[in-house]
Amino acid sequence: MALIRVLVSGACGSMGGYVSRAVDAAPDMRLVAAVDPAGVGHSLGDYVPDACEETRQLTVGGHLAAALVGSNADVMVDFTTPAVVMANIEAALNAGVAAVVGTTGLSEIDLKTVARMSEAKGVPCIIAPNFSIGANLMMRFAAQAAPSFEYVEIIERHHERKKDAPSGTAVKTAEMIAAARSTDPLSVVPTERHNVPGTRGGVLGNVPIHAVRLPGYVANQEVIFGADGEVLRISHETTSRACFMPGVMLAIRAIRDLKGLTYGLDKLLQQ
Ligand code: NAP
Repeated sequence: MALIRVLVSGACGSMGGYVSRAVDAAPDMRLVAAVDPAGVGHSLGDYVPDACEETRQLTVGGHLAAALVGSNADVMVDFTTPAVVMANIEAALNAGVAAVVGTTGLSEIDLKTVARMSEAKGVPCIIAPNFSIGANLMMRFAAQAAPSFEYVEIIERHHERKKDAPSGTAVKTAEMIAAARSTDPLSVVPTERHNVPGTRGGVLGNVPIHAVRLPGYVANQEVIFGADGEVLRISHETTSRACFMPGVMLAIRAIRDLKGLTYGLDKLLQQ
Protein backbone atom coordinates (compact mmCIF):
# COMPACT_ATOMS: atom_id res chain seq x y z
CA MET A 1 0.00 0.00 0.00
CA ALA A 2 1.26 3.48 -0.88
CA LEU A 3 2.01 5.76 2.07
CA ILE A 4 -0.63 8.42 2.82
CA ARG A 5 0.96 11.78 2.02
CA VAL A 6 0.01 14.27 4.74
CA LEU A 7 0.34 18.08 4.83
CA VAL A 8 0.02 19.70 8.26
CA SER A 9 -1.48 23.20 8.33
CA GLY A 10 -0.73 25.02 11.58
CA ALA A 11 2.33 22.76 12.01
CA CYS A 12 4.07 25.09 14.49
CA GLY A 13 1.11 25.35 16.87
CA SER A 14 0.45 23.16 19.92
CA MET A 15 -1.82 20.72 18.08
CA GLY A 16 0.18 20.94 14.84
CA GLY A 17 3.29 19.76 16.71
CA TYR A 18 1.47 16.71 18.07
CA VAL A 19 0.03 15.92 14.61
CA SER A 20 3.44 16.25 12.95
CA ARG A 21 4.95 13.85 15.50
CA ALA A 22 2.09 11.34 15.16
CA VAL A 23 2.19 11.38 11.33
CA ASP A 24 5.99 11.09 11.44
CA ALA A 25 5.70 7.99 13.65
CA ALA A 26 2.91 6.30 11.63
CA PRO A 27 4.30 3.53 9.39
CA ASP A 28 1.60 4.06 6.74
CA MET A 29 2.01 7.86 6.43
CA ARG A 30 4.57 10.36 5.21
CA LEU A 31 4.67 14.00 6.30
CA VAL A 32 5.22 15.82 2.99
CA ALA A 33 4.64 19.48 3.90
CA ALA A 34 4.23 21.81 6.87
CA VAL A 35 2.55 25.22 6.62
CA ASP A 36 2.39 27.88 9.32
CA PRO A 37 3.04 31.64 9.11
CA ALA A 38 4.52 31.43 12.62
CA GLY A 39 7.47 29.36 11.37
CA VAL A 40 8.02 30.29 7.71
CA GLY A 41 11.54 29.43 6.57
CA HIS A 42 12.37 27.40 9.68
CA SER A 43 13.03 23.66 9.60
CA LEU A 44 10.18 21.64 11.01
CA GLY A 45 12.84 20.05 13.23
CA ASP A 46 12.87 23.31 15.25
CA TYR A 47 9.32 22.42 16.35
CA VAL A 48 9.48 18.60 16.37
CA PRO A 49 13.11 17.79 17.20
CA ASP A 50 12.25 14.16 17.95
CA ALA A 51 10.97 13.43 14.40
CA CYS A 52 12.92 11.48 11.78
CA GLU A 53 15.60 13.24 9.71
CA GLU A 54 13.38 13.59 6.60
CA THR A 55 10.59 15.27 8.60
CA ARG A 56 13.00 17.54 10.50
CA GLN A 57 14.49 18.74 7.20
CA LEU A 58 11.10 19.96 5.87
CA THR A 59 10.99 23.75 5.55
CA VAL A 60 7.85 25.34 6.99
CA GLY A 61 5.93 27.17 4.25
CA GLY A 62 3.62 30.16 4.47
CA HIS A 63 1.55 29.65 1.35
CA LEU A 64 -0.93 26.82 1.67
CA ALA A 65 -2.17 26.70 -1.96
CA ALA A 66 1.39 26.33 -3.26
CA ALA A 67 2.26 23.69 -0.66
CA LEU A 68 -0.86 21.66 -1.46
CA VAL A 69 0.11 21.43 -5.11
CA GLY A 70 3.90 21.24 -4.64
CA SER A 71 3.77 18.41 -2.09
CA ASN A 72 1.29 16.21 -3.97
CA ALA A 73 -0.45 15.64 -0.61
CA ASP A 74 -3.35 13.20 -0.22
CA VAL A 75 -4.64 14.70 3.03
CA MET A 76 -4.36 18.12 4.69
CA VAL A 77 -4.72 18.19 8.48
CA ASP A 78 -5.69 21.66 9.77
CA PHE A 79 -5.31 22.87 13.37
CA THR A 80 -5.07 26.63 12.92
CA THR A 81 -7.45 29.43 13.93
CA PRO A 82 -11.14 30.22 13.37
CA ALA A 83 -10.10 33.24 11.24
CA VAL A 84 -8.30 31.23 8.55
CA VAL A 85 -9.78 27.75 8.61
CA MET A 86 -12.47 28.32 5.96
CA ALA A 87 -9.92 29.65 3.45
CA ASN A 88 -7.67 26.67 4.22
CA ILE A 89 -10.47 24.14 3.64
CA GLU A 90 -11.39 25.84 0.37
CA ALA A 91 -7.75 25.75 -0.78
CA ALA A 92 -7.48 22.01 0.01
CA LEU A 93 -10.73 21.07 -1.72
CA ASN A 94 -9.82 23.20 -4.77
CA ALA A 95 -6.50 21.35 -4.96
CA GLY A 96 -8.26 17.96 -4.74
CA VAL A 97 -6.72 17.27 -1.31
CA ALA A 98 -8.95 15.64 1.35
CA ALA A 99 -9.24 17.76 4.51
CA VAL A 100 -9.18 16.60 8.15
CA VAL A 101 -10.06 19.64 10.24
CA GLY A 102 -9.75 20.04 13.99
CA THR A 103 -9.87 23.84 14.14
CA THR A 104 -12.94 24.95 16.07
CA GLY A 105 -15.15 28.01 15.75
CA LEU A 106 -16.93 27.08 12.50
CA SER A 107 -20.54 28.26 12.34
CA GLU A 108 -23.54 26.29 11.05
CA ILE A 109 -23.37 28.35 7.84
CA ASP A 110 -19.66 27.51 7.47
CA LEU A 111 -20.46 23.79 7.81
CA LYS A 112 -23.13 24.04 5.12
CA THR A 113 -20.70 25.89 2.84
CA VAL A 114 -18.04 23.19 3.36
CA ALA A 115 -20.58 20.43 2.69
CA ARG A 116 -21.53 22.11 -0.59
CA MET A 117 -17.90 22.66 -1.65
CA SER A 118 -16.94 19.10 -0.75
CA GLU A 119 -19.85 17.64 -2.78
CA ALA A 120 -19.20 19.93 -5.74
CA LYS A 121 -15.48 19.11 -5.88
CA GLY A 122 -15.93 15.41 -5.08
CA VAL A 123 -13.26 15.74 -2.35
CA PRO A 124 -14.03 14.50 1.20
CA CYS A 125 -13.70 16.55 4.37
CA ILE A 126 -13.89 15.54 8.03
CA ILE A 127 -14.50 18.28 10.61
CA ALA A 128 -14.40 17.15 14.22
CA PRO A 129 -14.64 19.67 17.08
CA ASN A 130 -13.05 16.99 19.27
CA PHE A 131 -10.78 14.15 18.15
CA SER A 132 -10.49 12.48 21.57
CA ILE A 133 -12.20 9.11 21.80
CA GLY A 134 -13.22 9.74 25.44
CA ALA A 135 -14.76 13.14 24.66
CA ASN A 136 -16.77 11.62 21.82
CA LEU A 137 -18.04 8.90 24.13
CA MET A 138 -18.94 11.62 26.68
CA MET A 139 -21.01 13.37 23.99
CA ARG A 140 -22.64 10.09 22.95
CA PHE A 141 -23.52 9.22 26.59
CA ALA A 142 -24.95 12.73 27.09
CA ALA A 143 -27.22 12.30 24.06
CA GLN A 144 -28.25 8.88 25.41
CA ALA A 145 -29.20 10.37 28.80
CA ALA A 146 -30.98 13.42 27.34
CA PRO A 147 -34.44 11.87 26.78
CA SER A 148 -34.61 10.94 30.50
CA PHE A 149 -33.98 14.45 31.91
CA GLU A 150 -35.73 17.77 31.42
CA TYR A 151 -32.83 19.94 32.63
CA VAL A 152 -29.15 19.96 31.64
CA GLU A 153 -26.26 22.41 31.71
CA ILE A 154 -22.71 22.17 30.29
CA ILE A 155 -19.54 23.50 31.92
CA GLU A 156 -16.47 23.49 29.69
CA ARG A 157 -12.99 24.45 30.94
CA HIS A 158 -10.06 25.33 28.66
CA HIS A 159 -6.59 26.89 28.75
CA GLU A 160 -6.33 30.67 28.68
CA ARG A 161 -5.06 30.88 25.07
CA LYS A 162 -8.20 29.37 23.52
CA LYS A 163 -9.54 31.86 20.96
CA ASP A 164 -13.22 30.85 20.77
CA ALA A 165 -16.01 30.33 23.31
CA PRO A 166 -17.88 28.19 23.90
CA SER A 167 -15.75 25.28 22.68
CA GLY A 168 -16.72 23.39 19.53
CA THR A 169 -17.19 20.33 21.74
CA ALA A 170 -19.72 22.14 23.93
CA VAL A 171 -21.61 23.35 20.86
CA LYS A 172 -21.68 19.84 19.37
CA THR A 173 -22.76 18.32 22.71
CA ALA A 174 -25.62 20.82 23.06
CA GLU A 175 -26.70 20.08 19.48
CA MET A 176 -26.66 16.32 20.10
CA ILE A 177 -28.61 16.70 23.36
CA ALA A 178 -31.18 19.00 21.72
CA ALA A 179 -31.57 16.59 18.78
CA ALA A 180 -32.17 13.70 21.19
CA ARG A 181 -34.94 15.81 22.83
CA SER A 182 -36.36 17.23 19.59
CA THR A 183 -39.90 15.94 20.13
CA ASP A 184 -39.95 17.02 23.80
CA PRO A 185 -37.64 20.06 24.16
CA LEU A 186 -35.57 20.69 27.26
CA SER A 187 -36.38 23.39 29.79
CA VAL A 188 -34.04 26.03 31.23
CA VAL A 189 -34.43 26.82 34.94
CA PRO A 190 -35.58 30.48 34.99
CA THR A 191 -33.68 33.15 36.95
CA GLU A 192 -35.74 36.04 38.32
CA ARG A 193 -32.93 38.54 38.70
CA HIS A 194 -29.54 38.63 36.96
CA ASN A 195 -27.26 40.51 39.38
CA VAL A 196 -24.34 40.07 36.99
CA PRO A 197 -25.36 39.65 33.33
CA GLY A 198 -24.17 36.44 31.70
CA THR A 199 -23.73 34.37 34.85
CA ARG A 200 -26.35 31.85 33.71
CA GLY A 201 -24.25 31.17 30.60
CA GLY A 202 -25.02 31.22 26.89
CA VAL A 203 -27.94 29.08 25.76
CA LEU A 204 -27.90 26.78 22.71
CA GLY A 205 -30.82 24.43 22.02
CA ASN A 206 -32.15 25.22 25.50
CA VAL A 207 -28.86 24.01 27.01
CA PRO A 208 -26.99 26.65 29.10
CA ILE A 209 -23.24 26.53 28.42
CA HIS A 210 -20.63 27.98 30.81
CA ALA A 211 -17.09 28.54 29.51
CA VAL A 212 -14.18 28.74 31.97
CA ARG A 213 -10.78 29.99 30.71
CA LEU A 214 -7.83 29.50 33.07
CA PRO A 215 -4.15 28.59 32.91
CA GLY A 216 -3.65 25.01 34.06
CA TYR A 217 -6.44 23.46 31.99
CA VAL A 218 -6.07 21.67 28.65
CA ALA A 219 -9.71 20.84 27.77
CA ASN A 220 -12.38 19.53 30.15
CA GLN A 221 -16.14 19.26 29.97
CA GLU A 222 -18.94 18.28 32.33
CA VAL A 223 -22.50 17.65 31.23
CA ILE A 224 -24.80 17.87 34.27
CA PHE A 225 -28.34 16.53 34.19
CA GLY A 226 -30.63 17.43 37.10
CA ALA A 227 -33.95 16.00 38.26
CA ASP A 228 -35.82 15.79 41.58
CA GLY A 229 -33.44 14.23 44.11
CA GLU A 230 -30.62 13.33 41.70
CA VAL A 231 -27.80 14.72 39.58
CA LEU A 232 -26.10 12.81 36.76
CA ARG A 233 -22.68 14.15 35.86
CA ILE A 234 -20.89 12.97 32.71
CA SER A 235 -17.39 14.35 32.71
CA HIS A 236 -14.34 14.17 30.48
CA GLU A 237 -10.88 15.43 31.33
CA THR A 238 -7.99 15.99 28.93
CA THR A 239 -4.58 15.83 30.59
CA SER A 240 -2.50 16.02 27.39
CA ARG A 241 -3.08 16.87 23.72
CA ALA A 242 -1.81 13.35 22.97
CA CYS A 243 -5.40 12.18 23.52
CA PHE A 244 -6.47 13.75 20.21
CA MET A 245 -3.98 11.80 18.10
CA PRO A 246 -5.72 8.38 17.78
CA GLY A 247 -8.80 10.20 16.44
CA VAL A 248 -6.75 12.29 14.00
CA MET A 249 -4.95 9.17 12.74
CA LEU A 250 -8.29 7.36 12.39
CA ALA A 251 -9.66 10.26 10.31
CA ILE A 252 -6.57 10.41 8.04
CA ARG A 253 -6.90 6.67 7.35
CA ALA A 254 -10.68 6.69 6.90
CA ILE A 255 -11.14 9.81 4.77
CA ARG A 256 -10.32 8.22 1.44
CA ASP A 257 -13.39 5.98 1.74
CA LEU A 258 -15.77 8.86 2.61
CA LYS A 259 -17.75 11.26 0.47
CA GLY A 260 -18.78 14.85 1.18
CA LEU A 261 -18.55 16.36 4.67
CA THR A 262 -18.39 14.16 7.76
CA TYR A 263 -19.01 16.27 10.89
CA GLY A 264 -17.88 14.72 14.17
CA LEU A 265 -15.61 11.78 14.96
CA ASP A 266 -18.57 9.84 16.33
CA LYS A 267 -19.48 8.72 12.80
CA LEU A 268 -16.10 6.94 12.50
CA LEU A 269 -16.23 5.19 15.87
CA GLN A 270 -17.81 1.77 16.28
CA GLN A 271 -21.41 2.10 17.40
P1 NAP B 1 -2.17 27.28 18.43
O1 NAP B 1 -1.10 26.72 19.29
O2 NAP B 1 -2.45 28.76 18.48
O3 NAP B 1 -1.80 26.88 16.92
C1 NAP B 1 -2.40 27.40 15.77
C2 NAP B 1 -1.29 27.59 14.75
O4 NAP B 1 -1.87 27.88 13.46
C3 NAP B 1 -0.38 28.77 15.11
O5 NAP B 1 0.98 28.41 14.95
C4 NAP B 1 -0.81 29.81 14.08
O6 NAP B 1 0.19 30.75 13.80
C5 NAP B 1 -1.10 28.93 12.88
N1 NAP B 1 -1.79 29.60 11.80
C6 NAP B 1 -2.48 30.78 11.80
N2 NAP B 1 -2.92 31.06 10.56
C7 NAP B 1 -2.53 30.03 9.76
C8 NAP B 1 -2.66 29.77 8.36
N3 NAP B 1 -3.32 30.62 7.56
N4 NAP B 1 -2.15 28.61 7.87
C9 NAP B 1 -1.50 27.77 8.66
N5 NAP B 1 -1.29 27.98 9.98
C10 NAP B 1 -1.82 29.11 10.53
O7 NAP B 1 -3.55 26.56 18.68
P2 NAP B 1 -3.82 25.01 19.06
O8 NAP B 1 -3.93 24.87 20.53
O9 NAP B 1 -2.84 24.16 18.31
O10 NAP B 1 -5.29 24.85 18.48
C11 NAP B 1 -5.54 25.01 17.10
C12 NAP B 1 -7.03 24.83 16.85
O11 NAP B 1 -7.39 23.48 17.14
C13 NAP B 1 -7.96 25.71 17.72
O12 NAP B 1 -9.07 26.11 16.94
C14 NAP B 1 -8.42 24.75 18.81
O13 NAP B 1 -9.67 25.10 19.35
C15 NAP B 1 -8.50 23.48 18.02
N6 NAP B 1 -8.43 22.22 18.78
C16 NAP B 1 -9.19 21.21 18.32
C17 NAP B 1 -9.13 19.99 18.91
C18 NAP B 1 -9.95 18.86 18.34
O14 NAP B 1 -9.89 17.76 18.88
N7 NAP B 1 -10.71 19.11 17.28
C19 NAP B 1 -8.30 19.78 20.02
C20 NAP B 1 -7.52 20.84 20.48
C21 NAP B 1 -7.57 22.06 19.83
P3 NAP B 1 0.13 32.18 14.58
O15 NAP B 1 0.50 31.87 15.99
O16 NAP B 1 1.14 32.98 13.83
O17 NAP B 1 -1.27 32.70 14.44
